Amino acid sequence: MTIQWNEANEAVNTAASILIVTHVSPDGDAIGSMLGLANALRERGKQVTTAVDGGVPFVFNFLQNANTVVSKLESGEWDLMISVDASDEARTGLAGAYGRAHSKKVINLDHHETNTYFGDIFLVLSHAVSATEIIYYWLCEMPHPLSREVAIALMTGLVTDTIGFRTSNVQPSTLYVAQRLMEAGAPLHEIIQRVLESRPFGSVLLWKHGLQTVELSDKVVSAVITQESVKAAGVRDMTDAGLVGILNSVTDALIAVVFKETPEGRVELSIRAKTGLDISTVAVALGGGGHKVAAGATIDGPIEAAKARVLPLLQAIAKPPLVKVGDAVS
Ligand code: 5GP
Ligand code: MN
Repeated sequence: MTIQWNEANEAVNTAASILIVTHVSPDGDAIGSMLGLANALRERGKQVTTAVDGGVPFVFNFLQNANTVVSKLESGEWDLMISVDASDEARTGLAGAYGRAHSKKVINLDHHETNTYFGDIFLVLSHAVSATEIIYYWLCEMPHPLSREVAIALMTGLVTDTIGFRTSNVQPSTLYVAQRLMEAGAPLHEIIQRVLESRPFGSVLLWKHGLQTVELSDKVVSAVITQESVKAAGVRDMTDAGLVGILNSVTDALIAVVFKETPEGRVELSIRAKTGLDISTVAVALGGGGHKVAAGATIDGPIEAAKARVLPLLQAIAKPPLVKVGDAVS
């Protein structure tokens, strides 16, 4: 599928009102994409609404117009909806469902290989490291000059999804985009500090609870975060606070998974793998999605049933990848 810049530009140029939505449990790429694009389109004179169920996690409040994001979308009509960083319709939550029913057209802008191509116009580029990288290219295509505030939002997505330019999909072109964003005024070090190196004490308490449940079996390391531990840690949402990333550093494991109990009693899976494996197929089979080495899904509980269902699927693919030295980076 070729990327539809012309169709997307035409849709934006002819729209007066635009709704931008992203995926539920938003991360830095979700919020950075939504706000970066929203602010650029506002600079072009568009009437823009942004919405995500539950609103913006406090760590991203420093981004321009974070305080205007609608956390419960219940009214409005738009000429155009743009979904950013969401691989499928369900991921856009209630805000996405409301938006689709009240918008004339939908642009699907995403970088997940598991994208289901919902909507009418596609800006899907699976080799992009973040959805904000695609937005950078789109602004070049428009063309639209990069303001400092937009550059900060786009850099936030680049930094979060590459964990500070450390993932195997980072290319010279990724660093070129980062260079352009820095030149436009995005302070790289400060953004890294804010989104990767800052967490409330409650997150560390969640690690404490999660690490007590840790298990290693057949090259899969796993941990559980219950609603009880979320309450005990006193955190606002059920974020795993990066626990799965810590577990993925275990050299005896090839796959890491965190089972997180939702307030509704379902189980959210955060899965990571060493470079060379592909866990996205398992995530899709479970009704979720993601990338080769970072994927997830939300499945039926309780936790023990979810573990019994998921661990064998992951253990079956936790085999050392057949890569020659130097081949792992692609
Ligand atoms: P995380 O573990 O950080 O929540 O998610 C890792 C990756 O998996 C992200 O790219 C995210 O978009 C994807 N992902 C996580 N949960 C789900 C889910 O329930 N459905 C889909 N489609 N993708 C998910
Ligand atoms: Mn992303």
